[in-house]
Amino acid sequence: MIPSIMPTYGRAKMTFEKGEGSWLIERDGTRYLDFGGGIAVTGLGHAHPDLVRVVQEQAASLWHTSNLYNIPAQQELADKLVAETFADTCFFTNSGAEAMECALKTARKYWSSKGQPERVNIITFTGSFHGRTLATISAAASEKLTSGFGPLLPGIINLETGDHDALTAAMDDTIAAVVVEPVQGEGGIIPLPDACLKGLRDLCDQTGALMICDEIQCGMGRTGKLFAHEWAGVTPDIMAVAKGIGNGFPLGACLATEDAASGMTAGSHGSTYGGNPLACSVGSAVMDHIADEEFLAEVSRKAGLMRQKLEGLVASHPDIFELVRGAGLMIGLKCKVPNMDVIAAGYEQEILSIPGGDNVIRILPALNIGDDEIAEGVARLDRAATALEAAL
Ligand SMILES: *Cc1c(COP(=O)(O)O)cnc(C)c1O
Repeated sequence: MIPSIMPTYGRAKMTFEKGEGSWLIERDGTRYLDFGGGIAVTGLGHAHPDLVRVVQEQAASLWHTSNLYNIPAQQELADKLVAETFADTCFFTNSGAEAMECALKTARKYWSSKGQPERVNIITFTGSFHGRTLATISAAASEKLTSGFGPLLPGIINLETGDHDALTAAMDDTIAAVVVEPVQGEGGIIPLPDACLKGLRDLCDQTGALMICDEIQCGMGRTGKLFAHEWAGVTPDIMAVAKGIGNGFPLGACLATEDAASGMTAGSHGSTYGGNPLACSVGSAVMDHIADEEFLAEVSRKAGLMRQKLEGLVASHPDIFELVRGAGLMIGLKCKVPNMDVIAAGYEQEILSIPGGDNVIRILPALNIGDDEIAEGVARLDRAATALEAAL
């Protein structure tokens, strides 16, 4: 008999009842150190007192009105995002996939409104992940995501990541936009070299194609800048944001320049919940913490500490780990044994991490994790690796 929850997930055995900062706690009091952050979502940790207060106050006053009326919290969050980024305007959604949908629609509408409705093709790259809707699985174009769900969205051109010649050849006047994750997340924590992002920006400038950054996982302070593309010194035309922006409250956003958004006029797009008062109050409070130079400098410092300890871990377990890579507190440990075995061994030591592509375990902790918690988490991973070695 089919379970009452559609069986699309493989779940671990734990049931968490409470969260505190970087810790998740089961009913019997067992405390797991959270190196996964709910997949790069809880950037400020669990039950952050400022966020708890904002939710409680907003919940007691007004949850939802629809976008038929003005929403001051949405305006406040949009103003903060515009002030801190390349963008001139924002559309709010409930998820990352919806933010990507808005990004793709904005790009096609741009060319249609410029009198080139045939300019619809979108270049995407292998190993990427953009969500689970039909358009976003079509964009990522991996068999694992698309199998059985065809026909897919037409107009996607999926190129090998890093193949500059293929990209240059494909950038003709049918290309509406190019979509890139500055650091691939689900694909296995693969940072795109700055030179690639710069080169892509140049190609887009030469051809007019819009550059779309999917910063749903690598954005919101995760790499030590508010958004990962900032490291390369270039800006996109459109950007999808989600995950960390709501710290677990469902919220996403599509940001764009005035020119890129020029096709998006009244009635062209919408969402019932997107940007509601409750979600935007949380997003606004999250921005106050993360869009702060001192906070971001601390993320980079903690990332350095984490990286140093993980390099040590890899060096002391050469049969378990191959290498460590990533950017900021978005870190991948490439494994020599199946990554799920490492994650399961971690569960035995009460440390949580997240599987990723390329046989990687992802380390995506709260951005405000303590130095002692970084040390404790790596010590737990060390014990997990030692247990795995004993069984080899
Ligand atoms: C998680 C993720 C998405 C999809 O976000 P959802 O909120 O699950 O729809 C899209 N792109 C990237 C890079 C992601 O990491």
